[in-house]
Amino acid sequence: MKAAIIVLGCPKNIVESEYILAILKDGGFQIVSDLQEADIAIVHTCSFIDSARKESEKTIRDLIDIKEKKDGNLKIFVSGCLPQLLKESMLTKFPQIDGYIGTGSLDKLQNIIKSQKQNISQFSFKAGGLNYSKGRILSSNLAYAYLKIAEGCNHKCSFCIIPDLRGKYISRSESSLLNEAKQLAAAGIKELIIIAQDTTSYGIDLYNAFVLDKLLVKLSKIKEISRIRLLYAYPNSITDDLLKVISERENICKYMDIPVQHISKKILSLMRRPLNTRKIIEKISENYPQIVLRTSFITGFPQETKQDVKELLSFIKEGHFQYGGVFKYSDNKEALSSILAGHIAQKEAQERKVLIENAQYDIFKTKIENLKGKEIEVITENCRQKDNNWTIAARSDFQSPEIDGSTIFKSPSPIPIGSFAKVKIISNSGYNIKAAAVIPLYGGVAGRA
Ligand code: SF4
Repeated sequence: MKAAIIVLGCPKNIVESEYILAILKDGGFQIVSDLQEADIAIVHTCSFIDSARKESEKTIRDLIDIKEKKDGNLKIFVSGCLPQLLKESMLTKFPQIDGYIGTGSLDKLQNIIKSQKQNISQFSFKAGGLNYSKGRILSSNLAYAYLKIAEGCNHKCSFCIIPDLRGKYISRSESSLLNEAKQLAAAGIKELIIIAQDTTSYGIDLYNAFVLDKLLVKLSKIKEISRIRLLYAYPNSITDDLLKVISERENICKYMDIPVQHISKKILSLMRRPLNTRKIIEKISENYPQIVLRTSFITGFPQETKQDVKELLSFIKEGHFQYGGVFKYSDNKEALSSILAGHIAQKEAQERKVLIENAQYDIFKTKIENLKGKEIEVITENCRQKDNNWTIAARSDFQSPEIDGSTIFKSPSPIPIGSFAKVKIISNSGYNIKAAAVIPLYGGVAGRA
């Protein structure tokens, strides 16, 4: 049987879809990318905010259309956060699908595919679970891969339903992570991107302590891995030991993604987020200026005043972050924040979003201006020929894939994907960096421990 998978949502879903590919392969399915060829299609969904839910539902409807056009010769299975949210009402909403499972039952996917019945009752809807039992099949040929170190979340941010969709915080064992990292390195991966809902709480359930620093040290000893990047850090669980390890180990990127969401204490309190966020960010900026920070902000949160926006704008202008994703508050009926008074009109929220994005972009431009002429090392990701020249898209130590833009430079000859090259920063073009090639380097970083 031929199986195809569509994955929606965040990098954590990408990793899970790669586990699903291994589960399918283990079940004897041939993996195909063309839905016309496929006998079964799996859509691994997202539903944490309204727009993500709509995208998942549209994708399922598109699959149902294809199924009808193929006279029913396509079995459709839905997995992930949408079934976890909708549970039994999945079948009333999409009676044409053949089965679905929540976030905690991925390892049962083979059974449900092989069973003839539309058998939803067979499985519980326990939220979240670590499903790496059959290994992993990478879905891209790029030189980076995400490593999901934990599932679920113990925080209760008032705008977020992920703890309901993904359950309590469960850390993966260190040995299983080191094994997977070594397999990824053996498969040619040069950059490991550490992800979870909250990476910095790693170990709290296993060792009653935040031990991400110790895990990173062990991962950084895998010789073939040239870069380790940390995303989704939670302000309150960032330890001094972690900052020390990031700043000292050569192959750990001097980069951290720390979503702060806002800075006004009134709004942070309504969001049920740490009130000492400013102190933590200032400490990192002051003591570890070499660590480039990325963050994300929510604007238009209920009861956010112009004064709160002003406070956020002046915080941004202090220049702690090189990158900041800005999201308009999305009202989620299942989230606590939905019952708050003082919701902000979408138009007003959009205007605030633009204000904050512009302020963050100005900071980015200033930071790149200050780096003009600096030589940096980049890893190549794309190579296009035009006449006798090649345009290379690459990423520096401070650029995370998909979210921070690329470093673009010309080369007289093609450079293999996943190679390192030295370039000199010239300027920015939007969030991309324009550079000039210095010395192309191939393979890993010389002189690393
Ligand atoms: S830390 Fe907050 S926003 Fe992030 S997944 Fe947990 S509850 Fe949601």
